[in-house]
Amino acid sequence: MTTMPETIVPVATWRRLAEKAAREGLRAYRLNGDRRAWAVTSHSQTDTAYEVTILDGDLLCSCRGSAFRSYCKHRALVLAELGLLDEAGSGVDAEGRPVVPDRVIEALYAA
Ligand SMILES: [Zn+2]
Repeated sequence: MTTMPETIVPVATWRRLAEKAAREGLRAYRLNGDRRAWAVTSHSQTDTAYEVTILDGDLLCSCRGSAFRSYCKHRALVLAELGLLDEAGSGVDAEGRPVVPDRVIEALYAA
């Protein structure tokens, strides 16, 4: 079997990356008012934005690092914008665990 176990990234990691993204001045823009489609500006390339999408219950980013890792600061920034990293947010943890899968919060409340 080649099925990978579902990767849950610790909320502390997401928060650290989201803070880094904010410090670097990255901006997240919701596309067409859809909370599942975002463009996040690049820190290294000023004329570039990456696409962060929640597609079929997966949280995806078009940045290069995302080919290898299940987290990146662009996705972290989107999770922060969605309020999922807040203590009171619906993303959970402080031992409630998940911050994402759960099919990415049921594809963000579905359509
Ligand atoms: Zn990324």
